[in-house]
Formats: sequence, C-alpha cells, structure tokens
Amino acid sequence: MSDSSSGRTGDRAVRLVVVGGGISGLVAAWRLVQAHGPAAQVLVLESSARVGGKLWAGPVGDVTVDLGAESMLARRPEAVGLLTELGLDDEVVHPRAASAAVVSRGGLHPLPPGTVMGVPVDRTRLPALAGILDPDEVARAGQESGVPAERLTEDVDVASWVASRVGRAVVDRLVEPLLGGVYAGNSARLSLQATIPQLWQRARGGRPLLETRPPATRTTPATPAVSGPVFAGLRGGVGRLPLILAERLEKAGAEVRTGVTVRGLTRTPTGWRLETGPASGPEFIEADGVVLAVPAAPAARLLADVVPVAAHELAQVETASVAVVAAAVPREQLTGLTGTGLLVPPVEQWQIKAATFSSNKWRWVSDEQSAEHLVVRLSLGRAREEAALQRDDADLTELALADLREITGRDVRPAETRVVRWGGALPQYQVGHLDRVQRIREAVAGAPGLAVCGAVYDGVGIPACVAAAGRAVHDLQTSMRTRVEGPRDRQERIEE
Ligand SMILES: Cc1cc2nc3c(=O)[nH]c(=O)nc-3n(C[C@H](O)[C@H](O)[C@H](O)COP(=O)(O)OP(=O)(O)OC[C@H]3O[C@@H](n4cnc5c(N)ncnc54)[C@H](O)[C@@H]3O)c2cc1C
Repeated sequence: MSDSSSGRTGDRAVRLVVVGGGISGLVAAWRLVQAHGPAAQVLVLESSARVGGKLWAGPVGDVTVDLGAESMLARRPEAVGLLTELGLDDEVVHPRAASAAVVSRGGLHPLPPGTVMGVPVDRTRLPALAGILDPDEVARAGQESGVPAERLTEDVDVASWVASRVGRAVVDRLVEPLLGGVYAGNSARLSLQATIPQLWQRARGGRPLLETRPPATRTTPATPAVSGPVFAGLRGGVGRLPLILAERLEKAGAEVRTGVTVRGLTRTPTGWRLETGPASGPEFIEADGVVLAVPAAPAARLLADVVPVAAHELAQVETASVAVVAAAVPREQLTGLTGTGLLVPPVEQWQIKAATFSSNKWRWVSDEQSAEHLVVRLSLGRAREEAALQRDDADLTELALADLREITGRDVRPAETRVVRWGGALPQYQVGHLDRVQRIREAVAGAPGLAVCGAVYDGVGIPACVAAAGRAVHDLQTSMRTRVEGPRDRQERIEE
C-alpha cells in the first residue's frame, strides 16, 4: 500500500501544494518540508509577483520600513520561536521602551496600564484613565455594574458588554483605538470570545471586569505580565521574514512560484487538481495534498464545489480595507517627538486611526539608515468605511498629514511619501466567529488531503498565523493518513 502520509505514494514522492505565499502559506510549506524531507515535493503557488502577502518591507525615500505588518507579539511563542528556528535570534529587535499615546479631548495621554485591549481590569489603576476619560467617566468605570456578574453563556460583541459594565466612554476612547487598531473593526460587531479571549474566560466564569489583583494584562505593553519585551521585530523589517522562508524552502528542495493564481480546485480519484493559468488556456497541477493559505474570499471561491459548507461560511466573513501612508520626514521636523506613536479613537473624528513613529519605535529604522530622514507611518481605514479610502494617493496623503500636523502641532513636510493600500486585508472576527471556524474545519476535515490556514481562522496576528499553519499541516497529515489507510485499516491497526 502506498503511504502518502510519510512522503511516498507507491514509488513516487508525494506532491503537496500550498496555495498562497503569505506568512501562513510559507510557514505551512516549511512545516511540510520539515515533516517529509526529500520524500515530498512541496510547491507554493502565490498569485502576486512577490511572496509575503501583508508582510512587506520597502523604501520610502532613503529609508526602508515595513509597509504592512511591522511587529510580532513576543508573549506568544510561535513567531519568535520561528525566528529562533531559522537562526535569526541575532536579528530580532524590540521596540524602544516608550509606548504609544492615545489622542483624547485635545491631548495626548499615555496608554494606561492595567488594561486588556483598552478594557480596564485593575481597580487600583483606574486613576490612570484620567485625561482620556473625564472625571465622570472614570467614576462610572469604577462603579462596574452587574456585580456579582452573571456568567456569559454565549458570545457577545465587545462594545455592548464592556459598555454595560464600565461605561460607553471606555469603549469609545480605549477599546476602539486598541482593538480597532488590530482588526480595523468596530467593537460593536467584534466577538468578545474571539478577540479578547482573556476577558471572555472571565465573563464565562461570572467574574467582574475590575479586580484588585487582575490577571495577566498580556496585550498592554505598559503593564507587562511576564518579563521580557511584549513585541518583537526583525532588523530590516518583518517583511524580510517571508523572503528568508522562501529562500530556505528553495534550498530545501521546495519550489515557490509567484505570479500563479489558483483559479480552481477539484477532486481526483487520488487527490486534487488545481487549475491555474488563463481561462482560455488553463493549466493543471495534480497534488496528493493541498493547504489553502489564502484569505477568506479566495478560499470560499476555491472551496465552492468541493467543500460547499466551508465555502458558504468563509463567504460570510467580512473584511476591512486599510491604507498605510509612510512618510520620510526631515529629522529636524520631528525633533523632540517622543513615544512610539498615537492611537486615535474614531470618536475624535480624525481620518487617521493611528500613527507609528517608526524611527522612534525601531532603532534599525532611525539609526542604521538615513542621516536626514525619520519615518512616520499613518494608518487609515475601518470596516464598512471604505469610502474614506476612495481618494487618490495625493489626497489621501494630504489628509493624513493634515491630521498629523494638527494632532502633534508640528509642520510636518515630508521629503517623500508612499501609499500602500491593503484592500480587504483584515478579516472581521464578528460575534460567533469561533463557531464559524469550527464549522469550516469540520467541513474541510471531510475532504481528505485538504487543509486550511490563514488569518481568518485563529487570529490575525503573525504568531496566530504561524500556529494555524502548523495546525493545518497536522490536519493534512492526519487526513492523508485516513485516506491511505481508510478508517477501517486504521481501526485494525489500533486494535493490533
Ligand atoms: C496594514 C497591516 C498591518 C498589520 N500589522 C500587523 C502587525 O504589526 N503585527 C501582526 O502580527 N499582524 C499585523 N497585521 C496582520 C497580519 O499581517 C496578517 O494577518 C497576516 O500577515 C496574514 O497572513 P496570511 O498569510 O494569512 O495572509 P496574506 O498575507 O493575505 O497571504 C495570502 C497570500 O495568498 C495569495 N493568494 C490569494 N489568492 C490566491 C490564489 N487564488 N492563488 C494563489 N495565491 C493567492 C495572496 O496574494 C497573498 O500573498 C497587519 C495587517 C495589515 C494589513
């Protein structure tokens, strides 16, 4: 009998295809290479001209910066563990200690300690909310309602739950800029269970939000829960990571093809057939196993005929489009500007939702590149607010710079700017998201030799994508083993 789980079907190598060359797909391919060695042919198909997806570093003027994702949560092991595995420990960097500020009521206020995604959880630190919140709003937060708390039995949206406990202002001025910053979403639609699992766990246990000795506030840089930096980056940009992975994959005998869009997926008696090339002259690639590491919309299209239940679920996932305006600014214009950046609550009515002072945040940006310029990155765009991005690059840049000038009181006149648009980039983890993901995974598990991963499943951050890629490879191997042995053979083997 052939054994495709271990790397051979009959006397030929197993062919494993990963669709999507973002961080998820590249890590999945890396794990496949590690699991099978030369016994498998691993092929990555990426539709765009470069690998990396939302990880991309490039120049603005004479300074290279990350133009998409720029940091990785270091309190989870997966991303930093991958860097170690790739021998990149010496190139891991951490943001300078200073943290970001929140724009509120005409002032800039330090990110308060004792919060989780902007939600206060430490009663003793409530006074630090002053300034962002007015005195009545701070007092309201301190009178947490619904205590003793009822146990939450099903998922709720973040905004209504937090507002009901500690007041609407906490949602508008803290949760929106922090949580909204990660998902470019609206907390009135985002799932508590999926986006702030620490608080979901507490809510399920009927515990109040505010405690005198709160649990680990993992997501609040100002109050590290365990020792060590909260975030990590890579010298030269996290955009280097996919390039390094692609190089390692090719060295290990895998193939990474860019400019190849997979347009169709069908089952064959022994595996899968992928359709690429133009509709007028399609080309086909046969595979024993396939990992789909693409965003929700293309995944839904590819699964429509083969796993319609999963396709239907994926098609329901909304996404948010965002844009990054990167600016190389003469150093003197930013002298004395402190902190790593600004978070801007939507209630403040600015167009930008965040500014990252990249040169303040990362030494490799400020000290190792240009003597003349520092870089600021301005982010715009939220779910269901696409109209704000429907301006040409010049207008969008001017709009973003006008906000920066007014908020910081500095006449910032960049030497160079660059606009990068990330259409449909961030999946919205709406109420019920985790149940949806479970339904998708269950449906895909019924298609042997197929697995899925990417930012739509277990978290949008890089560590979560790395973890989901590892899980997909595990799922693929399990399902290929089932296909080769059949459930009956497996049962017999277990009984032996
Ligand atoms: C502006 C921005 C800033 C962010 N900042 C951070 C951050 O600082 N830290 C963090 O942890 N996360 C951040 N994120 C989130 C994180 O970058 C993404 O969630 C993650 O990179 C997604 O990786 P992925 O491989 O799942 O998807 P993608 O990066 O979207 O990769 C999927 C790939 O599949 C390809 N593809 C699609 N369809 C097909 C097809 N039919 N055939 C072949 N190829 C196809 C696409 O071209 C793409 O390259 C940010 C996201 C954005 C947009």
